[in-house]
Amino acid sequence: MSFMAVGKDDHAHAYDESVNFINEVTSKCDEIQGKVLAEILSQNAETEYLKRHGMVHGGVDRETFKTRVPIVTYKDIKPDIMRIYNGDYTPILCAQPFSELWISTGTSDAQEKLLPATDQEKVRRDNLSTTIMPFIKRRIEGPEANKGKGFSLLITREETVTPNGLLLCTGLTSVFKNPRFYRDNPYPNNYNTSPMEAIYCTDHFQSVYTQLLCGFYQRHDVSHAKAVFGSSIIWAVHFLKQHYLDICHDIESGSLSTKITDPSLRVCMIKTFMQHPDPMLANVIRAACMGENWEGIFRKIWPNIKYVETIVTGSMAQYIPMLNYYSGGLPLVCVKYSASECDLGFNLNPMCDPYNVSYTIMPNMAYYEFIPLELLSDYGSSELPPRTVDMANVEVGKEYELVVTNYCGLYRYKVGDVLSPTGFYNSTPQFKFMRRKNVLLSMDLAKTTEIELQTAIDKVSSLLHPFNTQIIDYTSCAEMKTTPGHYVIYLELMTTTSAGLNGLLTPEILEQCCSAMEGYLGVYYRWCRGDGSIGPLEIRVVKNGTFEKVRDYAISELGSSFIQFKIPRCVKSVHMLDVLNFGVVSTHFSPSVPRTD
Ligand code: AMP
Repeated sequence: MSFMAVGKDDHAHAYDESVNFINEVTSKCDEIQGKVLAEILSQNAETEYLKRHGMVHGGVDRETFKTRVPIVTYKDIKPDIMRIYNGDYTPILCAQPFSELWISTGTSDAQEKLLPATDQEKVRRDNLSTTIMPFIKRRIEGPEANKGKGFSLLITREETVTPNGLLLCTGLTSVFKNPRFYRDNPYPNNYNTSPMEAIYCTDHFQSVYTQLLCGFYQRHDVSHAKAVFGSSIIWAVHFLKQHYLDICHDIESGSLSTKITDPSLRVCMIKTFMQHPDPMLANVIRAACMGENWEGIFRKIWPNIKYVETIVTGSMAQYIPMLNYYSGGLPLVCVKYSASECDLGFNLNPMCDPYNVSYTIMPNMAYYEFIPLELLSDYGSSELPPRTVDMANVEVGKEYELVVTNYCGLYRYKVGDVLSPTGFYNSTPQFKFMRRKNVLLSMDLAKTTEIELQTAIDKVSSLLHPFNTQIIDYTSCAEMKTTPGHYVIYLELMTTTSAGLNGLLTPEILEQCCSAMEGYLGVYYRWCRGDGSIGPLEIRVVKNGTFEKVRDYAISELGSSFIQFKIPRCVKSVHMLDVLNFGVVSTHFSPSVPRTD
């Protein structure tokens, strides 16, 4: 459905359909889950995988499925996936042919996984978004929904093929390359400021440079800024800091930088935007970007902007203060929780506080099970066989690991995410995204999860705030070269004005930050500090731009996807550590042993 052809009545109709659909599926959670599982099992009854696990065609109930088919991780199914990768077209996992293998970053350790996708799955996901978005849009924008355009930073990654011609791409690239996406977003269009030529340009410099230019040319139309992950928006702001003079020069002279070499992108930019010099616009952008004070830069550039739509849950929560700073306090709207394994959930209350987002998992997309997490099994030290709870039976306040059975041949597959139910939408649970399951940092008896590290970082943020200093990004590593070993936290900082309320940031303050962090790293950590088996926590401050170099390294050397890449919160790669250590400008150690009581 192209926006150009959509009138007021069509929007009202789409909204009504959206409300009805959401009410219908969320009211029958358990019934729909049963149907979904039966459908998956019957469609794939003849697959090698299900036969291997003793599933026979027809009439298999949930309990038999749970008894016979094991819960698995990517490692368990990798041999099957590699057979598919190498061109085995027999129905190993799924009766339907795979059209693509999706590259998932999934975990934050930069390890890529390949997950099979069918055309049917692409249509299913597409239909779900199209049906649910009118409901969400109305809650964000009110009855005036769809009036403005999004400055949407959308970036595709180069696709490749397997030795036997199966398309290999990220899930997001697949969405953007879907003909339906193009049909809904031709240029000029009423939704996004970026033309498809810029979105499809796989050279990140050229893509981001031109998308910013397009966003500036249409500055009065922009009602919101959008990127999949909060980190991408922060990254774009840093890009702008580096390149705004060149961008303003292009606008002022009406001539596109020679660095934009992609032929179709050049033609599109020159034809659509750059026919006349626009010194007034150049002055506005230059005035907004000049100097150190970037607070509220979005409002200066886009006078009609009303919100920022991006994911800031999970490990992205650390970008909330920076996004608040750059946006001048605009609402941060978090809409979707999805993975290459499955489109998981939507935030049906999108204007909520970004720290309190809950996602409603749609029961018609896959069959979901939840492993209740006891403290010990969360840390991997219990070998108890996992028992699972069905979606309709989860309990508010508990924590669960998500297990998915989808239409594309994943059966009882651990996604690796930990979720906690916060309530129900009709009979369907809503979940807060807690963290990736993996323990992030570990040394001796101490095991630190991503959420513990994030909480400790939040504490540091609040200590740095009175000094007008913000954390741009952070990561960590377990330093074993010293005896005893110790945790190292890399921080990239931004000081917004020369001195804050409490004066200049001093090394003593950073030492206090080390101590404060140690207080949040769990009782085992503090015990180990007390008995000397772990040394004092170290903060290494890195120079500005270092985390961008880490990202560049991951993209160019490890082949990570630009848009899906998430800074690993614990770095193990020696080369990535080299990049970080090269940028270190100062080091600080915790001066005292944390209390254990
Ligand atoms: P990928 O398969 O590369 O798209 O990565 C999917 C993973 O990204 C999920 O399993 C989550 O760990 C994370 N993720 C996706 N959406 C969200 C979200 N809204 N909030 C927090 N984490 C998310």
